[in-house]
Amino acid sequence: MTGGLRKGRLGTRYPYYNCNYCKGQNYNANKAHELLLEMLQQLSLHPSQIKALHIEAQQQMTRRLQARAQSTARLRTEIQDLSDKISQLEEKFITGKIADTVYNR
Ligand SMILES: [Zn+2]
Repeated sequence: MTGGLRKGRLGTRYPYYNCNYCKGQNYNANKAHELLLEMLQQLSLHPSQIKALHIEAQQQMTRRLQARAQSTARLRTEIQDLSDKISQLEEKFITGKIADTVYNR
């Protein structure tokens, strides 16, 4: 789109846009701006909607962080359990309660 000033019927100049695709088609810029403003107003959110989205986003983030903390804790417990088992096995091996063949399986 290109813009410019055009002389109107009464000799006054008015701003216009010229479409690069529709040959020769031009649009009153003031009307185009009004339409654009109207569109943008329809697209914009009411402050209460923004607040609701903000709250929803925070709740989702909190839920995800909690879920992550829970799975981290679960994995830590699992790691602890496994290292305990390894220690117990080593203990039994050292005290000769398990045959070499079982331990090295
Ligand atoms: Zn066009």
